[in-house]
Amino acid sequence: VAIGVLGAGQLGRMLALAGYPLGLEFAFYDKPVNAPAAHLGQYFSSCQQGDALAQFLAVAGVVTYETENVPLSLAEQIAKHKRLYPGIQSLRLGQNRIAEKKLFKQLNIPTPAYQEVHNEAELKAAVADIGLPAVLKTVTLGYDGKGQILLKEEADLARAWQKLQGDPLVVEAFVYYQREVSIIGVRNRESEMAFYPVTENYHHQGILRYSLAPAPALLGAIADQARQYMAVLLTHLNHIGVLALELFETEQGLLANEMAPRVHNSGHWTINGAVTSQFENHLRAIAGLPLGSTALCQPYAAMVNIIGSYGNTRAVLAIPGAHLHCYGKEARPGRKIGHINLTAQTEQQQQALMRQLAAYLPPSAPVLA
Ligand code: AMP
Repeated sequence: VAIGVLGAGQLGRMLALAGYPLGLEFAFYDKPVNAPAAHLGQYFSSCQQGDALAQFLAVAGVVTYETENVPLSLAEQIAKHKRLYPGIQSLRLGQNRIAEKKLFKQLNIPTPAYQEVHNEAELKAAVADIGLPAVLKTVTLGYDGKGQILLKEEADLARAWQKLQGDPLVVEAFVYYQREVSIIGVRNRESEMAFYPVTENYHHQGILRYSLAPAPALLGAIADQARQYMAVLLTHLNHIGVLALELFETEQGLLANEMAPRVHNSGHWTINGAVTSQFENHLRAIAGLPLGSTALCQPYAAMVNIIGSYGNTRAVLAIPGAHLHCYGKEARPGRKIGHINLTAQTEQQQQALMRQLAAYLPPSAPVLA
């Protein structure tokens, strides 16, 4: 039997690449006729003739998902017949910013101030409470900065409302963070847990551009706090598989931004930088296997996303310790089509290697300063 994966994008592709050495086989269910993971297992496209879902379920054992945008009704239908990991509860939460924020609050995980808004008057009232700047976001289906608008002044409110209205919306306080970090944790069917080192992430125009692991100069107490939040979430959700939590580091400590019940872009460095990658550990967790070590292979690791075009990949491969990961996607402006992983013995070396990848980074990237 195969591991069934809902979604056949790059995350599904990297799950399969991590699973082959373990002797695992894969089946994917998605929409596009040609998807990044389509050739890495049996592929069932919902655009094909016949009942692709039934065919997928006929060959799948355990089922997982590579995106939280799987329709809940589909996940619930599948969960009646198959073990679905991470569970429905994690999926439901990961789809909805309000549900996520309520859970953070319930578990004493601090978040930016927020209010749900249903009309323009409520938006005005919420902003009067929260103050400006603020960020208006869709409650569901946002990714890579899509579905969110920064509100700087009163005049922005009407325009933002016009643009996003129709979907459920939430307005939240703008956070003057020192930096963004994330933690990736994993829990298996025996409730064993493991945590990767906290990672520093730099976003530009809403898209992750690079990650540094471990987050430079992170206080031990902050790292412990992040691990504790992750452990509480994994346990409370009875989560099986990988969970990612994105946080803002502020002078007052960590604020939770959002979580993703899946392997995550800020964990791509683990493919070459950790003893066991997030992809392998997700598979181990859902397949009922022991978890692997989440320790760094070398003291420093980093990941740079390839966005829009592949650039000079020959030059990338000439950099010592650099690894190229291409997703088999058509190059298009603003699209994540691959990433580069680096490992280094010293922080200086890590920084020097990052500067060699300047062509892949926005000029504003702090790592280039
Ligand atoms: P999200 O889709 O919520 O992860 O937001 C994408 C990116 O927008 C984040 O990684 C931040 O860089 C930025 N962002 C989102 N929410 C806020 C906020 N409340 N304050 C400041 N920046 C934010």
